[in-house]
Order: sequence, then C-alpha cells, then structure tokens
Amino acid sequence: DDPHVTQPKSTAGLLPDAQTVTAVRHWTDGLFSFRVTRPASLRFRSGEFVMIGLLGDNGKPILRAYSIASPNWDEELEFYSIKVPDGPLTSRLQHIKPGDQIILRPKPVGTLVLDALLPGKRLWFLATGTGIAPFASLMRDPETFERYEQVIMMHTCRTRAELDYGRELVENLRHDPLLSEIHGDDFTDRLIYYPTTTREESPFMGRITDNLASGKVFADLGLPAMNPAEDRAMVCGSLAFNVDVKAVLESFGLHEGANSEPREFVVEKAFVGEGV
Ligand code: FAD
Repeated sequence: DDPHVTQPKSTAGLLPDAQTVTAVRHWTDGLFSFRVTRPASLRFRSGEFVMIGLLGDNGKPILRAYSIASPNWDEELEFYSIKVPDGPLTSRLQHIKPGDQIILRPKPVGTLVLDALLPGKRLWFLATGTGIAPFASLMRDPETFERYEQVIMMHTCRTRAELDYGRELVENLRHDPLLSEIHGDDFTDRLIYYPTTTREESPFMGRITDNLASGKVFADLGLPAMNPAEDRAMVCGSLAFNVDVKAVLESFGLHEGANSEPREFVVEKAFVGEGV
C-alpha cells in the first residue's frame, strides 16, 4: 500500500468493517428489510445481534444494535428495520440501495439463543414490531426444530401490513420442500403462526399478554396452557412489552434464564425508548 495515497473521506472510516448491500425491500412506509454481504470470519448463533450503521456527515460512524434476521447458515446477512422519520440512523439507512456500503461490527452478542433455554416440547416466540427479527433467524435454523417439537410464532403489530414480513417468511418456511424432507410431512403443524393486530381489524386481534393471560391463544390453537415442564419462550419487544410478558410467563411458573444459566424463558429489548 502506498502510504501517500489517502482514502477518500467518505469511505475511509468505513473500512475494514464495510459490507455491501445486495437487496432491499420496503414493506410499509415505516418498515424495510435488506441483505448485505457476510464477512467471511463472522460466526454467530441464530438470534444474536450486531452493531451496524453508516458514516455520519462528520465522518464518524452512527451505529445501532440490530438483530441478525437471517439464520447462521445463510451466506448473506439479513436485517429487518424500522424507519424512524428523524432517527439519526434510520432516516438515512432507509435510502440504501444494492451496491451501497454499510458498516458492520462483526461482534455478535445476545440472549435470544437456543443455548439459554432448557430442553422442552414447545418453543414460543413472542414479538411485537421489529422484535420478530431474531425469530426470523431462529425459525430458519433447523436446530430450532431439532430441539423442539413445535414452534409457535406470536407476532403483534398495529396493522396487518406490518405483519407481512413475518407472514411471508412463515409461509415460505412451511412450504419449503427441503424442510419437510428434513423434519417430516407434518412440518406445517410444527411451525404455528399466531399473528394479531391491535388497531386494524383482522381475524385475530389483541395484545400477546392478553391472549396468553386469558388463555385465548391456547384455546385457539388447541394447546395446553403454558407450563414449566413443556413450554419455553423467547421474548422481544419494547421494554413495556417485555416487562408485561415476563410477568405473564412467571405466572405460568416459567423462570427467566441466561446464556450462563439456561431456564424456561429469555428476554431481549427490540429497541431502547418508548417506541414510535
Ligand atoms: P434512535 O435514536 O435509535 O431511536 C429513536 C426512537 O425510535 C427510540 O427512542 C425509540 O422510541 C424508537 N425506536 C427505535 N427503534 C425502534 C424499533 N425497532 N421499533 C419501534 N420503535 C423504535 N431496530 C430495528 O429496526 N431492527 C432490529 O432488528 C433491531 N434490533 C435491536 C436489537 C437490540 C438489542 C436493540 C437494543 C435495539 C435494536 N433495534 C432494532 C433498534 C435500533 O438499535 C435503533 O434504535 C433503530 O434502528 C433506530 O435508530 P435511529 O438512529 O434511526 O433512531
């Protein structure tokens, strides 16, 4: 390298953590997903998050935590993002196009990993909004279905359109011939999808906490009430959501675990703040 040649200011700070955007899809005015190249050295456990971002006008990186939405076997990385109108990162990130570069710090961490839970029969994924991202990873990881007989994805958003990313993902998985081959013809029954809206009218409505506490979801799905012998759960939403769900899970006799001490459920914030 010629030490006299300086990098142009716009990309100098990005390297060596730059990754290239390969695809972008906008789901609503407030939600989009995108895929980027994966650093060859990046290993992660499905469900973990990394710091990603862009260079700010002052040349300093604007970095935020993002759950990796793709499974650990995928050769690219996928993310599912909110668009906060005046958000320092997402007001700009929402305009990325294939070929653009983003910053990705390759140090994955997080509590929503299979190793933080005890073995069980059913695994419940409980998410609001972009909190579905870590479960988009875990649902696509065959190990999830090796460890649990049934996986129930409960996702709640205000409107039906906000559910589309998760809905399409689940539909594609349930009709994936390879997964049926690996997991048997009954794979459709092993991945259960329970989407609800809180504002717009839809077939199923209501908050996840209410549908759990009232027993409605168990009745709708023909499952026994949650119990510590059979059920495990992972929770990802706003702080208020996480606090409320935790109380409901504890009322069923489940205990919070961690990487260092696996138990019946684990919790992670989908973002810091009150939500938009
Ligand atoms: P910020 O200044 O970061 O946020 C502005 C305000 O917008 C916040 O105070 C909050 O009230 C609200 N907000 C931020 N993010 C969200 C959100 N996702 N849903 C609803 N309201 C929000 N965001 C994602 O979009 N996808 C992810 O996969 C994701 N994973 C995360 C994992 C962890 C562990 C944490 C802590 C956060 C995660 N976030 C995720 C939030 C993310 O880090 C940023 O907050 C978000 O990208 C907005 O950045 P910003 O700079 O535009 O606005």
